[in-house]
Amino acid sequence: MKVKYFDNAATTALDKDILDKMMPYFSEEYYNPSSIYTKSINVHKVVDESRLRIASCINANQNEIYFTSGGTESDNLALKGYALANRKKGNHIITSCIEHPAVINSCKALEKEGFEITYLSVDENGFIKLDELEKAIKDETILISIMTANNEIGTIEPIKEIGRIAHEHGIAFHTDAVQAIGAIKIDVEDMNIDMLSMSGHKFYGPKGIGAIYIRKGIKVNRINDGGHQENDKRSGTENVPGIVGIGYAILKACNNLEENSKRISELRDYYISEIEKRIPEVKLNGDRVNRLPGNANFSFKYIEGESIMLLLDSKGICVSTGSACSSKTLEPSYVLLSIGLPHEIAHGSIRVTIGKHNTKEEVDYLIDSVVEVVDKLRKMSPLYEEGK
Ligand SMILES: *Cc1c(COP(=O)(O)O)cnc(C)c1O
Repeated sequence: MKVKYFDNAATTALDKDILDKMMPYFSEEYYNPSSIYTKSINVHKVVDESRLRIASCINANQNEIYFTSGGTESDNLALKGYALANRKKGNHIITSCIEHPAVINSCKALEKEGFEITYLSVDENGFIKLDELEKAIKDETILISIMTANNEIGTIEPIKEIGRIAHEHGIAFHTDAVQAIGAIKIDVEDMNIDMLSMSGHKFYGPKGIGAIYIRKGIKVNRINDGGHQENDKRSGTENVPGIVGIGYAILKACNNLEENSKRISELRDYYISEIEKRIPEVKLNGDRVNRLPGNANFSFKYIEGESIMLLLDSKGICVSTGSACSSKTLEPSYVLLSIGLPHEIAHGSIRVTIGKHNTKEEVDYLIDSVVEVVDKLRKMSPLYEEGK
């Protein structure tokens, strides 16, 4: 049975044409880009061409892009690297309570180093409140880190305004754009972004490669010690096949952004409207308008998301009960609790993330399956009988 994959926020399939571009750099063109013979200089050029592809997509300069091992490392570098390099200016950082664990846990680590962190709350749709952000700013504030779009509920934050507020106060602004790249247009100049994290495998590129944009003039300490690669910001021999892959993947994602987003958001809207039409007592989580094209996160009252997911799995459908990281724990998602869902409702949530390979037929199969599975589980649920 061909799997129907609706978990594109967890990872995406590497495109075959991108894989073809990467292949020569595993074995034939294996040279270390730091060496100085002709073969290595050629590989070095290929690495810089990839940098340029990334820079062009987000309106940055080539020398403002640094390669990392993924979104997690980019977030760590932005938070810890910036905090440690700018400690003399202040020890206060502002973030939100719905950030990815890569940001939240970097902040927790910085708290142990003597930094003070403000975790902004969000409203019922997952937006941070700009007046609360303004109020949280102090003389000691050196950095604001707010994600471009949330991985669980798809809410797109007012990034341009957040960046403007940061800059009015002379504070640097980092955004985790791992979910946003390839889904919505990103322009670091227009959106007042100083640092931005991305990850190859979230836009049909390879896993284990990411990048960070660091605006010229922004000081960041490296967080792993070693050689002088990546202009001293990230030690370690470059992952050349991955770098080639992420470069072509972002080029493709940017070139096809409007077309893909339009088609994907139409499928998402179709899924949302059918679920709301055919299943009573459901709640769409996240904002209806400012949300990622592929994201539809629903809470289904009276039943467990875990059970829905498992029954869908037996029908060959892959969905998520929250973020992949929290799916293995019994605690409900902290993002869903942060938007005010009670524990029992948060527990009954399913995240569908539609990608560029999903078809209308697959979405129809998904809808029919969700309707059937929810109905079956509710019939077995004593809570549902009481609630009626
Ligand atoms: C997936 C994800 C990450 C982590 O990226 P990896 O490359 O898997 O380390 C960080 N932030 C967000 C919002 C993500 O969705």
